[in-house]
Parts: sequence; structure tokens; C-alpha cells
Amino acid sequence: MQSTEERYEESYLYRLRHSAAHLMAQAVSEIWPEAKLSIGPPIESGFYYDIDFAQPIKEDDLEKIEKKMRELSNLKQPIVRREVPDKGAARDVILAETTNGQGEENALYKLQLLEAIPEGETVSFYDQRAVDKQGKEHVFVDLCRGPHVENTSEIKNFKLMSLAGAYWRGDVRNKQLTRIYGTAFATKEELETYLHNLEEAKKRDHRILGRELGLFLFSARVGPGLPLWLPKGAQLRETLSDFLKNEQVKRGYQGVVTPNIASIRLYEKSGHILTFREKLFPFMEDEEKETFILKPMNCPFHIEIYASTLRSYRDLPVRLAEFGTVYRYEQSGELAGMLRVRGFTQDDAHLFVRPDQLLEEFKGVVDLMRVVLEKLGLKSYRLRVGTRDLANAKYIGHDENWDLAELAITKACQDLGLDYFVSPGDAAFYGPKLDLIIKDALGRDWQMGTVQVDYNLPERFELEYIGEDSKPHRPIMIHRAPFGSLERMIGLLTEQYAGAFPLWLSPVQIAVLPIADRHTPYACAVADLLQGYVGRDRPEISEDAIPAPDLLASRDVSWPSFRTTVDSRRQSLGKKIRDNQASKVPYMIIIGDKDIEEGTVGVRSRDEGDLGAMTMVDLMNRLQQEMN
Ligand SMILES: [Zn+2]
Ligand SMILES: [Zn+2]
Repeated sequence: MQSTEERYEESYLYRLRHSAAHLMAQAVSEIWPEAKLSIGPPIESGFYYDIDFAQPIKEDDLEKIEKKMRELSNLKQPIVRREVPDKGAARDVILAETTNGQGEENALYKLQLLEAIPEGETVSFYDQRAVDKQGKEHVFVDLCRGPHVENTSEIKNFKLMSLAGAYWRGDVRNKQLTRIYGTAFATKEELETYLHNLEEAKKRDHRILGRELGLFLFSARVGPGLPLWLPKGAQLRETLSDFLKNEQVKRGYQGVVTPNIASIRLYEKSGHILTFREKLFPFMEDEEKETFILKPMNCPFHIEIYASTLRSYRDLPVRLAEFGTVYRYEQSGELAGMLRVRGFTQDDAHLFVRPDQLLEEFKGVVDLMRVVLEKLGLKSYRLRVGTRDLANAKYIGHDENWDLAELAITKACQDLGLDYFVSPGDAAFYGPKLDLIIKDALGRDWQMGTVQVDYNLPERFELEYIGEDSKPHRPIMIHRAPFGSLERMIGLLTEQYAGAFPLWLSPVQIAVLPIADRHTPYACAVADLLQGYVGRDRPEISEDAIPAPDLLASRDVSWPSFRTTVDSRRQSLGKKIRDNQASKVPYMIIIGDKDIEEGTVGVRSRDEGDLGAMTMVDLMNRLQQEMN
């Protein structure tokens, strides 16, 4: 089904937040009349205002400002737009009505803003005024394009969030102003949900959980944006890529492997050297003066593989897949945990298809995406179809090809019954695309995988296949990465599950906890049984321990293997349970005297608590069921 997306910039919420920024500025002006106001726009999560205070304010002051805002909101001030004929008249208004009687200097920033407005453009102000019960008049006038809500009484559900420094006009050579961040919502419930989710988000922050759970870390010695994957994180990558590879094999993909560096000539041919220039790491030169670059994307390599042999129409589609690690020189200020890194692994594939195969192949790709999302428990998502902006001529390729490709994308979504919306102008210059936007457990949007149709690269590399008519034809390329990257996907999944991954995905699935040293051999035998016998020596078994019965004889060949550890530390059982619960291990198996006597195990689930004693067969049945 096709849905339409209301643009935030045109929404009531956007106006409300803009008006909240004004209300905050009014409150600040009343408390600190000498404070100089600059700009105060709405932003995605609320609003801010950049203010030049004579004395720096503190976080504690936010409450004082909020209180004043409430008073001003309650005065029910109408918010009125006023237009002036020209910049001269606007200057007069600024000096007469926005300086709080502090003199011209107070209007410093507003006058500079006025300066930047093109001659001949309408200049507008927004006024809010009212008289309070004591007969005191409150007035606030701001140079502003608007739009706003009608009355300050609409601004009820707001909160000031934090203080930050911000250079005037974002330029470090300018004065640093104080930025006050706030947020506002139409209803109390929405505000409360937002604040609650914010708290929750802090707990789920993948950068913190990643370290606490031993998934990954960053090291200053390695360099910014270059994650080190610890054993548990590496296992997560392994599990995710095994799952996807398995699905791809079923769908006729073929795996390939390509190098991490290549001659610059490859990227000159592809055009990336121009279109991707600012994301490339510095070049390397060898002794023969050949220049190499770190791979920013896998496509040209896969193209070389396609082009390495003569293809007939019967060979198509060719689907080449690779978990390819790429390097992009992101600005250090833009690096953010696993969301933006400098080296990452894409679950990449390129499909080379005939025009008559485009629809079916696109559908196959989108269907795979659907299967992946279902398995990962990511149920809430939307698909954005990026099409041409017909008023713009920046697109390469024939119109009929574009029509075909845009139709294929929307038709694929329709046939699969998926929720999508069309976003004109969001296509790449070389073809239309489909972006996956996932809503996580806290309602936040994550831009994830993408599917792109490409007419450009086959053209640049003069790719061909021999058609039924024995003549050469040009294939169409589809780029696709359902996860986007393993890094980003693991970041999202860590926050989605707050680190408590489902059983199939958990790096350690089961921890076996002997209560005392004498229970360790039995615990180890149980662990061996759970992970498939590995026949290794167990240094954790001490000499005076009770020998383990031959549990391995009971192994059923159909039992899957589980990633299992034995917690044989000399700690109390309570401490071991707490630690493994904190590590979010899905199952703990507790071994005591009674278990050894009766040949059972004590089972404790992360999500359901103590499940009591079970036989190994019952335990295996339960685990197997949960895996599917
Ligand atoms: Zn404004
Ligand atoms: Zn590609």
C-alpha cells in the first residue's frame, strides 16, 4: 500500500516548536534583558535558540526559564505576523522593538540577519503581547519568516533539555553563543513518551552496551571510526552473515571475494574518483608510480568479474554477492559509534539483469529484504521509493528506462503488499532506488539497507550480453544491501533488543553454572553435549571433583549445537547468576548435587526466570523450538 508522508516542515508540530523557541526567547529576554538573541529554529527533535549572554548561564537556570515560559504561555498571547515594506523599515522595527531598551548593540545579531535577506524580499516579524493580572505589559517581537501557531497558550507541553556552545553562524572565528535546546509536543502524552524513550535510549545506547557486553570497542591507537570486534561481536557478525548467505544461496546468488585496495584506474573508469572524492582515504603510490586507493565500494570489482567472460542472455541474471569491507573517510566530527565508521562491511550484491527481468529480480531482492527483517524481529519499517524529479535534468539514461525501473520498484512493493511511499527527487543520478527505514522499539527511524537500479555503470564499463538475436545488449545493474552494513545493523539490533538478543542471535546462548567445584565435571559434560562434543581437555576440572557420568552417550545427532560457556569461577551461585544475567545470556544451566544424582539440569531463562529441573531431552526440545 502506498502511503503519503507529511513533511515535518509543513506540520503543526514544526510550527509549535518554532513558536516554543520564540516563547523561550521571550522568557530569556524578560529574565536577562541584556541577553542578545540570534537565531531560534525548530529542529528534528525540538528547537533551540542561540543567545549571547552577558554572564554564562547554567543548567540550573533552565528551570527558571521554563517557569517564565509557563507564565507567558498562560497569558494567552496571540502570535501575530507583521510584514514591513522594506529592509529600512525592518531596521527601524528591530531597533525600536527588539532591544529591550538596551540600546542598538542588543540588536547586533538581528541586524546581521536582516542584512542577509535579499533586497526586495518581504521582511516579516512575529509579535506576541499581552497584559498580565498586575497590569504589566509583556511584549516580544522577533524578526522571523514563520510560520507559527496562533497563540502562546498552545505551547503547553515543552521541556528545556540542555545547554551547548555554538559559534555565531557556525564559524569558529565568530563569538561562541549559548545554545539552549528544548522540545515541545502537542500533547502531554507525546512529551512524556518522548522523555521516557530518551531515558530508555540512554540505557540502550549501542556504544555503551557494545563495551559492557564485550561486542566491540574503539581504540585511539587504532584510529577513529575503526572498530575492533571482540569475540562476542565477531560471533554476532558471523551469525548474521551466515543467515544471509544461506538465504542468498537459496536465491541463486554466487559469492565472490575481492581485494581491499585497487588501482585508481578502476575508480577512474567507474567515475567514483569524481563523485566520491571527498570520501576517499589518501592515495598510496607504489614503486612503479601506480596509484592505489582503499576500496570505497565493491561495485567496480563485481563489474570486472561480470565482464571477465562472454555472457549470453541465458546466463542472466548474474547475482554476485560479497560481504565486502569498504573504507570511507568520514569527517571525525561525524563519526558516531557504529552508525558512522570509517571501515565497515557491506552485505553487498550486484545483480546483472536483462530489461525483461528487472521487475522479477527487483521483487526477489525486496522479498529477501522482507525475509531478513522478519527474522531479525524488525517489524515496523517503511520503504521510500526515490524517483526522478521531472523538473530536473541531472539524470542520465533514457526516459523509457527510468519509467521501466520506477514502475518495477513500485510494482515490486505493491505485489509484496509492503508499505511504501514515493519521494520524487530522491533518485540517484544514475537510477531510481528503494531505501529501507526501520522504526526501532523506541519509535526512532534508522536509515538502513538500500536497493538501487543503475544504468550508469553498465554504460561506463560497456557491459554486454549476447541476446537471443545474437546481437550485444546492455544489462541493467541492481545494487543491493539489505542490512546496509553489518556495523549499522548490529548497532540497531543492540539498541532494539537492549542487548538481550534472541536465542539464535545471542553470541553466548547458554552458560552452565556449577554450584561448587565438585559439580564442574558434570557441568562440562553438559556443556559439551550442548555445543556438540569437541573432545578438548577441560582445565577447569579439579582432581577431587565428582566424575561426570557419560552424558555424551545420550546425544542425539539431530540436536543442534549451541554456543555454550562454563562459568567455573569460585564465586557464589548468586553472583554467577547476576553476572550472566547482566551479560544477557538467554539460558543458564545450574548444576548441583541433586542434578548429578538424578541426571537432570536446573534451567533458568533470561526472560522467564527459574524453570526448574529438566532432563537434557526436555531442555533440547525447548531450545530447538525457540531457535525456529
Ligand atoms: Zn522564528
Ligand atoms: Zn554497488
